[in-house]
Amino acid sequence: LTTRLGDVFDRLRKRGALSEADVTAALREVRVALLEADVALPVVKDFVNAVKDKAIGQDVVRSVSPGQMVIKIVHDHLVEVLGSDAVELSFASVPPVPVLMVGLQGSGKTTTSAKIALRLKNRDKKKVLLASLDVHRPAAQEQLAILGRQAGIDTLPIVAGEKPIAIAERAMKMGRLEGYDVVMLDTAGRLHIDEALMMEVAAVRDLVKPHETLLVADAMTGQDAVTVGKAFNERIGLTGIVLTRVDGDARGGAALSMRAVTGKPIKLLGMGEKLDALETFHPDRIAGRILGMGDVVSLVEKAAETIDQEEAAKLAAKMEKGNFDLDDLAAQLKQLRKMGGMSGMLGMLPGIGKIKKQLSEANIDDRIIKRQEAIISSMTKAERKNPKILNGSRRRRIAAGSGTSVQDVNKLLKQHQDMATMMKKVQKLGKKGIMRQGLA
Ligand code: GDP
Ligand code: MG
Repeated sequence: LTTRLGDVFDRLRKRGALSEADVTAALREVRVALLEADVALPVVKDFVNAVKDKAIGQDVVRSVSPGQMVIKIVHDHLVEVLGSDAVELSFASVPPVPVLMVGLQGSGKTTTSAKIALRLKNRDKKKVLLASLDVHRPAAQEQLAILGRQAGIDTLPIVAGEKPIAIAERAMKMGRLEGYDVVMLDTAGRLHIDEALMMEVAAVRDLVKPHETLLVADAMTGQDAVTVGKAFNERIGLTGIVLTRVDGDARGGAALSMRAVTGKPIKLLGMGEKLDALETFHPDRIAGRILGMGDVVSLVEKAAETIDQEEAAKLAAKMEKGNFDLDDLAAQLKQLRKMGGMSGMLGMLPGIGKIKKQLSEANIDDRIIKRQEAIISSMTKAERKNPKILNGSRRRRIAAGSGTSVQDVNKLLKQHQDMATMMKKVQKLGKKGIMRQGLA
């Protein structure tokens, strides 16, 4: 896909505002990408139309091709639709807080119930009770009991022949009497949506009035996502979605379908069979995955906003020659700050994790960057060009002028030296890393 999109975008390479033809050509490929990611057809149509309206006439940011610009707009819109912020589960209610888990059979409800319970226990120090309302599948209640034992979470004792409503009632009662913070109710599923299932779940909902009702859905769900999402949201009322098997091959189109159809946030992702394989949802990651372009998109975006390519090239040449002075450092710091720090920028490049670690150890964060900028701006031009002349009295003057201490100034000068050295390393390693990835 990336190469196919690349071809289209090369053809579009020119500057100015995005024309309808530019956008239409690019969106044809985006449409294919979405369908390949198994996004439901009606959702694809709506998405493409919305992006088209948004994109036509937008200016192309300098140093970015129109094609890249379209990717950026598509990506941004996708992130927006998926939910610009990750939404956590909410437990702000009177304990025991009831949580209802719904979804089709095999979607991962039972596993996810245990995963969430374990996370609540470990991270939030909550006392959780798990109860299985699945009286249809043989041994379903035992399955939850086994997972509960593995995770060290209490499960409601099983009473043979009991109906789901009665189980839910007993679970809430035990939750109240024994001081549980959260009671998680794992319901039965069917292979397809049917009326009996919906009635059963609706009755439980009416009884316990859940604080969270989570639809558990397999990331592999294709065109069905629309039916499933709609049915559960309309009949039961959802507060969020958990997408499972995101560790598999699925490109995650179901995330967009479910989100678009229900309007409910995706809260968590299941990343494997193990009980700790549960992650908070990050829209930008899934967006990249759906588009099949990985982190290239966010790299393009950040570059578009901040990098003046000529400036960067000039700086690189200077670094190579080893005359990276304090003016260059100041320019570099400014860019770094805009890009969320060096580690933020480098984290998006392939094969560069090692340098990222070094940099975070060097502790280059926003606050420090600002202080360093202040120090450099208190220096004279000559001092910036040739830091060697910075003797004790000059350092004292600069410290006073920038509202810092001589120690801070010394630290900056050492940092500058370290950085100049590290920049050279970054360049060498960066080139190697990129060549290894076949991107050079
Ligand atoms: P339920 O019928 O909805 O309760 O589904 P289960 O919780 O019993 O899960 C069905 C199967 O999917 C089990 O074998 C789980 O181990 C597996 N499973 C659940 N969540 C995930 C996940 O996030 N990744 C993977 N790879 N497997 C999962
Ligand atoms: Mg189950």
